[in-house]
Formats: sequence, C-alpha cells, structure tokens
Amino acid sequence: MTRLRIAVQSKGRLSEGGMDLLKRCGLRFAYGRDKLHQRAENMPVDLMLVRDDDIPNFVASGACDYGIVGENVLREEQLAGGRTAELEIALRLGFATCRLKLAVPVEGEIRDLADLQGKAIATSYPGITRAYLATRGIDVEIVEMRGSVEVAPRLHIADAICDLVSSGATLQANGLKAIETVFESEAVLIRRKGVQAPETDSIARILMRRAEGVIASSQTKYIMLNAPKDRLDAIRALLPGADAPTIAQVAGRDDVVALHAVCRERVFWETLEALEKEGARAILVLPIEKMLA
Ligand code: ATP
Ligand code: MG
Repeated sequence: MTRLRIAVQSKGRLSEGGMDLLKRCGLRFAYGRDKLHQRAENMPVDLMLVRDDDIPNFVASGACDYGIVGENVLREEQLAGGRTAELEIALRLGFATCRLKLAVPVEGEIRDLADLQGKAIATSYPGITRAYLATRGIDVEIVEMRGSVEVAPRLHIADAICDLVSSGATLQANGLKAIETVFESEAVLIRRKGVQAPETDSIARILMRRAEGVIASSQTKYIMLNAPKDRLDAIRALLPGADAPTIAQVAGRDDVVALHAVCRERVFWETLEALEKEGARAILVLPIEKMLA
C-alpha cells in the first residue's frame, strides 16, 4: 500500500509541536528507531525527519507529499525561485508563531525605516528582507548569516538585523530594538498545488480533518456557569466567540439558570471577572480534548 510521506523538522522549534500534532491526530510511532525515518504503526504514514530549510524543496520535488514548516522558511524558499513556486499551504497549524523584525542598536542614529537607506542588514532571510524593503524604496546591502544574527551590529558586520523574534528577549539582551515587523509567521502544512495522488489523498484528508479539530480544540474552551435569569443577555454578550449556548434549569431555583457554551476564542481572567460582575456564579472553564465541528 502506498504510504503518505510527511516531512517534519528533526530537531528544533517545529519538531516537538509537529510530532505532538501528528500524535494528537491519532498517529502512533515506535520509539527508539531510525532517527531519519519514522513509520506510523497504525496508519499508512511515514515521517521524514530533516532540517526545516530542506522541507519546501523535499515537498516540491515529490520526495515527500506534505511538510510541516515555518511560513517564513516557505516564503524565503519561494522567493529564491525554482520548484517551490508550486507549493501551497494546506493548513495553518497555529503554533511556532513568530515575527521577522528589523532591529537596530538601541544606542544609534537609525530610528526608522528611512534611516536604513544604503545600510548593511544581517539576516538569514535575504529574500523576504530585500523584497520588503524594495517595495518601500529602500536599497540595502544584505549580509547573509545562518544564525546568531543578533551579534552582527556589535561585530560591525552590519548596521541592523532582520531576524525572527518571539518574546523580544534576545533583542534586548543584545542591545537591539525592533523598528518594523516584516513578516508574521506560524507553522504551516504544505503540499504541491493541484491534484494529489489518489492513493494517499484519502489518508491526507482524514489527517487534515483531525488536525483542524485538534487546532480548533486547543484554542477552544467549554464554559459552564450559573446566571441570574435577568442578567442572561449581558452574560451571553461577554462570552468570547461562543455559539448559541445551552441553557438548563437549576434544581430548586427559578431565578437562576445554568449556561454551557463552547468558546472559540481565548478565555482571559478579565472575561471571568466581568462575568462574575454581571452575577455569574460557579464559573468553570474546561479544556476540550477532541472536536469534530
Ligand atoms: P534546522 O537545524 O532544522 O535548520 P533552525 O535552527 O533553522 O533548525 P529553529 O530555530 O528550530 O530552526 O526554528 C524553526 C522555526 O521555528 C523557524 O523557522 C520559525 O518558523 C519558528 N520560530 C518560532 N519562534 C522562533 C524564534 N523565537 N526564533 C526562531 N524561530 C522561531
Ligand atoms: Mg533551519
């Protein structure tokens, strides 16, 4: 039987999240085997564990059917030309979110984008950086680096950097501040555009449907609370991204109802405090393990 081949980063920020997602989609792998290749025990799926930069080309060339990669890497490879133009995003995966940002020394003359004219910028993303600045009429010299880009200004290799940022702690530790967001990224599932091979397409569809459920449920919560009947409209208005809730009677109470709702957005403490202010009591927020909408 033909097996679906998925490329996943072997080690790094995308490997744990990628493997975790696939396991939550029901795939089971035997541990302690070949490091480059993992065979699912319960479905016709094989994983290729590789460097993330290679994933777009592996999928484009047909060596793998799908790949899990940062959108930043996909975009960079596509700007480099070649067969990666034939790739498309099959599903946004909602993890490994980060931003590609232009950053400059805190102590320095460069304040905004216009000050970058004619300057040297160190980056691992020459394609995205150049394209972004070109559309804004700014001409720069790109200094390509594979890693540790944040040290470039201190070593006088470049005047500014364009690098991935999640918390901003690395920038701060290196005396840099961000002046512009160039690209927003998250992990994405990629494949070749067009008709998929029929032997593997059915298994890919099943996995993607499950993945959508896993992603949706990780962002979704089940809220239960007791609400005074006369405050029900105000309480419903506070529920973030809720479908029509279930309203049930509370034994022995005419003035209070129980409300259950699926909330498709993050539920913050502020929301719970606002609900409490409106008279909601016994508020419970529960994680949802699986969901087929
Ligand atoms: P490899 O050896 O596989 O090439 P790498 O060093 O290029 O690994 P990682 O640092 O593991 O890769 O990052 C992989 C992806 O994780 C990035 O391309 C990006 O999409 C995402 N990511 C999320 N947050 C960050 C961050 N703070 N810094 C860098 N990448 C991040
Ligand atoms: Mg890499």
